[in-house]
Amino acid sequence: MTDTATMAGLDPATLNDVLRLAGSPGFDRIQEQIRRTGGCSDPIHLQGSTVTRDAATGQVLHSYSTGTEPGGRLRVACGNRRASRCPACAWTYAGDTYHLIRAGLVGDPAKGTPETIRDHPRVFATLTAPSFGPVHNRPGNRPCRCGTRHPEDTPELGTPLDPQTYDYAGAVLWNNHASDLWRYFTIYLRREIAKRAGLTQKAAREQSRLSFGKVAEYQKRGAVHFHAVIRFDGPEGPDTAPPAWASLDLLIDAIHAAAARVQVDVPPAGDQPARALRWGTQLDIQPIGAFGHGEEITEQAVASYVAKYATKAAETTGTVDRRIGSKEALVLLGVPDHPRRLIEACLDLHPLYPNRKLRDWAHMLGFRGHFSTKSRRYSTTLGALRQTRADYRAAQQRAALGLPDPDDETEATTLTLAHWAYAGHGHTPGESWLAANIRRDIQHNREIAREELPAQLALEGATG
Ligand SMILES: [Zn+2]
Ligand SMILES: [Zn+2]
Repeated sequence: MTDTATMAGLDPATLNDVLRLAGSPGFDRIQEQIRRTGGCSDPIHLQGSTVTRDAATGQVLHSYSTGTEPGGRLRVACGNRRASRCPACAWTYAGDTYHLIRAGLVGDPAKGTPETIRDHPRVFATLTAPSFGPVHNRPGNRPCRCGTRHPEDTPELGTPLDPQTYDYAGAVLWNNHASDLWRYFTIYLRREIAKRAGLTQKAAREQSRLSFGKVAEYQKRGAVHFHAVIRFDGPEGPDTAPPAWASLDLLIDAIHAAAARVQVDVPPAGDQPARALRWGTQLDIQPIGAFGHGEEITEQAVASYVAKYATKAAETTGTVDRRIGSKEALVLLGVPDHPRRLIEACLDLHPLYPNRKLRDWAHMLGFRGHFSTKSRRYSTTLGALRQTRADYRAAQQRAALGLPDPDDETEATTLTLAHWAYAGHGHTPGESWLAANIRRDIQHNREIAREELPAQLALEGATG
């Protein structure tokens, strides 16, 4: 048992199951299986076998069957990226996002992003939604508009002072069009850059490319906002140096101008007025430096910040993490008042703007975009990271099962027959407890490793 001290608080059913597991003959193997999934909270169970034979002689070289595993099953990770569904797999995804954003900031020569991109002008920009009515907040040292000094974790934060006058329809229509606002922003940004460089758009594009890595985040009030790394590259992307005119000042100035120009028109429908959707006035742009001198934010801080939000979907606002069929379901699910009103606004507006699919995205408070996206040349891709990890896991699995490496020369002379079937998912209460402990151990160890990174960067700076 990894940590007997934490067993004290277990409920009797879980404790019994933990004791049963610990006493079972396959206990070590179950623990090993759960460790391989990274402590996944809802693993997929597989049943089946593989047999590898020498193609010429028919001799069995390796064989594996789940028949020898505890319960006759092999557990594999579920891979869900939502923290509310599976903390372990979501954490893996956050780690991937972290490496992706970081690779776009400090480079990753092994995966094709050169270290020289650290010299490219780049900023961390936050584009927000406008106001849809006053909400409870903590404005510095002053009390909230309601007269109260709210504690940091009070559920009222971000909820409207007056739900009767709050523009719920405007709020969800804005979320619903947020990706369009972003798209126009990138178009205008390229125009504003060319204008400032005194070039045509075509000429500007031929001299310098613009890269983005962005994540969407929900504010407490349920409005989406975007955090983005925006970077100048040279004519051929990250490998080439940007021209002299592509300065940090020009980039910042162009972002301000582009954000101010964006407007998406929503036509009137039913009882809804015509709306002109725009960004909020809170536009934050911070230059990114290697070590965070003065006004700069560090590369490390940006990557950590972005990764933290990559798995947080809309659940932080109190909504639910799956599609909602009806208003009645909201009551049964116990959704708090503010997110419930936002979801209801989506369901009410759906017939007025059918092509906006507001019903399908009601649980996302109208937002229908992706949580983390990047332009093609920003850095390595999530797919590439997943592949690397999958290859690593598969190799580990093969080693554990005594299977040959498919890249091995001998492969051509062998024949592998495999048969796998889905055999359910999830954990017993005891396995669940075990998985949570294993996940904590893994995360603790990796976080220590992650914290050592800034020291490493400082060292590079001192020597280089
Ligand atoms: Zn999982
Ligand atoms: Zn208040």
